[in-house]
Amino acid sequence: MTETNEEEVVEFSRLRLDCPHCGSYMKVRTSKTHIPELRELYLYCTNEFKCGYRCKGRVSIDETLVPSHCPNPDVNIRPSNWLLGKMALEAQGQIRLTGLKPTEKEPKP
Ligand SMILES: [Zn+2]
Repeated sequence: MTETNEEEVVEFSRLRLDCPHCGSYMKVRTSKTHIPELRELYLYCTNEFKCGYRCKGRVSIDETLVPSHCPNPDVNIRPSNWLLGKMALEAQGQIRLTGLKPTEKEPKP
């Protein structure tokens, strides 16, 4: 069961972006970050000769689903509504948040 969950995590960790013009796969040429929760990506379309599109985009971390076991005190990412619900249950003594694992049922995107 654990192996299945690990495979799912690997599959979802691959970010694929398609060119908005021709639909071909886009690759990241370079990226940079100024703050830990935001990364700017410089992308190019792999259909270079027929399309040639290049763009800049962003990947941001917007909400916490499961708190880190080693939180960085300089990072402040708001908890999701799902996590706020879990925190309310913890405050009532119904669950322990430290027992939450990233593979537990989380809200669907
Ligand atoms: Zn393209």
